[in-house]
Amino acid sequence: MSVERAAVVGDEALEVWIDQDLCTGDGICAQYAPEVFELDIDGLAYVKGADDELLSAQGATTPVPLPLLTDVVDSAKECPGECIHVRRVSDKVEVFGPDAE
Ligand code: SF4
Repeated sequence: MSVERAAVVGDEALEVWIDQDLCTGDGICAQYAPEVFELDIDGLAYVKGADDELLSAQGATTPVPLPLLTDVVDSAKECPGECIHVRRVSDKVEVFGPDAE
């Protein structure tokens, strides 16, 4: 996933991470954006990195691909655990998710 293809809001690249401590494991995010989210064998959702690999570290971040911005934002809005966080790469300010202003 190249930086050039990452989604931007106000010329800022975005990244997404999941707080696994709050994940209910319902899989809504993986239905909305399977290119970005996947359930691991522990039943919790994780983000995926370049080459489609699942990033199994808690709170790992991955760039938001521009074509998937809507799906990722919808995932954050619909997430019953309120645990999907989309933030600017530059200053880590959350722009979509439970901590967005
Ligand atoms: S939508 Fe939220 S609660 Fe549901 S699996 Fe994804 S991260 Fe977990």
